[in-house]
Amino acid sequence: MAYVITQNCCNDASCVAVCPVGCIHPTPEEPGFATAELLHIDPATCIDCGACADACPVDAIRPEAALTTATRPFAELNADYYRQHTPTPVFTRAQRPAELITTATPLRVGIVGSGAAGLYSAAALLRHPGVKVDMYEKLSTPDGLIRHGVAPDHPATKQVIDQFDFVPEKRSRFQLHLGVEISTDLTHAELLARHHAVIYAYGADNHNALRVPGAELRGVHYANAFAGWYNDHPDHRHLDPDLSARRAVVIGNGNVALDIARILATDPARLTTTAIADSALEALRHSGIEEIVMLGRRGPEHASFTTPELLGLLNRPDIDVFVNPADLPAERPADPAARARLDLLAAATTTSPTPGNKRIVLRFHTTPTRILGTAAVTGIRVRRTDSNTDDTIDTTTVIAAIGFRGRPIPGIEFDPRTHTIPNSRGRVLTPTGTPIPGVYTAGWIKRGPVGVIGTNRTCAEETVACLLADHRAGLLADPSRSVGELCAVWNPTK
Ligand code: NAP
Repeated sequence: MAYVITQNCCNDASCVAVCPVGCIHPTPEEPGFATAELLHIDPATCIDCGACADACPVDAIRPEAALTTATRPFAELNADYYRQHTPTPVFTRAQRPAELITTATPLRVGIVGSGAAGLYSAAALLRHPGVKVDMYEKLSTPDGLIRHGVAPDHPATKQVIDQFDFVPEKRSRFQLHLGVEISTDLTHAELLARHHAVIYAYGADNHNALRVPGAELRGVHYANAFAGWYNDHPDHRHLDPDLSARRAVVIGNGNVALDIARILATDPARLTTTAIADSALEALRHSGIEEIVMLGRRGPEHASFTTPELLGLLNRPDIDVFVNPADLPAERPADPAARARLDLLAAATTTSPTPGNKRIVLRFHTTPTRILGTAAVTGIRVRRTDSNTDDTIDTTTVIAAIGFRGRPIPGIEFDPRTHTIPNSRGRVLTPTGTPIPGVYTAGWIKRGPVGVIGTNRTCAEETVACLLADHRAGLLADPSRSVGELCAVWNPTK
């Protein structure tokens, strides 16, 4: 009997640190950690102690005996990893930092952004009793994508936030400032004058542009706005999408596209007890959408969604998933992980419609060429990329889930090619590659919009390690002004 890591895995490696036999891989030190779709327990080595399940912040780890029909396939996914890899047990026990920053050498850090990367940075800093953290968030609500991005039908993933409910002693050294936009309410120079160091962890809230004629028509939405609408994001809660037609089209097939298609297909009764915005739930109750077509421009072997998320979707009793057998490659790939995913998709080629269920159609080798309509969308013209044949899909709602990109903040270095802040292990660099004293970055704006929530933990810890090393080396200038003086500068109630 062993424990099994299931769909909710957030990859923050809390389980790795507590496993007494080192049987959870990949670890943050191993290749493949940054791109792992989930972590895996070696069933041959697991001693069934349950320490990992206790440590998991998102309740993703289950004893094998407690697996359900929906979670049982994850036992195979965990075991499969060890058929392809032979990692040696590694022991990376969570430790108090070897060299603490004490009140004798106090350190005051400003963090811009209150999402996962900012929060993991704060958690790493607050382990040191001499560190005080001020976090600045432009919205009136904290937690970034944990609150406004994670799909409402994934409540266990949202639980990740509970670990940032710091104990009172840490809370006394942590201050969250809401409604403060850097550059408008405070400048980078003002932040630097009040802190030894500033970590920019404000994510990537912009989107890639859909470059086809008609992309500007009413009825075309981007994923950040659409997901923000059902997640009650203050900038997007009034989106009011037209859900009256029978079909919606989602462009892209990453996990965000899958989230959006799934929410549109979900029986609203399943969402009533979730954190979904009331107005979105009401709109979904009156939705006429019965079918969501998801367009992937490449073949299924290159789909961006992860296998755990695909499995989760295929296990949903209220949603039918269809795949055209002609979309699958003639030959099965050699890579076992790719083969497992194609086997799942192959099973969806024989789905029988369930009365009352909505349907998601996963189309591959299909790219949009034009959005049709005069003022509003009436359809979308698509091309099959493997045969250059065109067809039209009737719809009034198109959602482009084609990836995010970061935005520049005035005064901070920015690479317009990668839409990230240029850095080396989190130290922000000048155009000539020199680290800028006291300026750091973490999360999507550091490494680009890839990875799940827990990926930000190792990313943030890398940044914080560099910051602390620079402090110990005397490279950070003492703040010339106190944070208290800032209160007159911003308007936290806006
Ligand atoms: P993504 O995984 O990069 O997917 C973007 C998709 O858009 C790809 O299918 C891409 O196709 C397609 N695309 C890009 N430009 C396009 C164009 N011009 N025309 C048509 N298609 C285009 O990004 P994402 O879905 O936004 O997710 C971002 C990150 O968040 C990922 O790491 C994801 O795993 C993570 N996330 C995780 C969860 C979860 O674990 N539950 C949920 C949400 C997000 P190509 O591959 O052909 O470029």
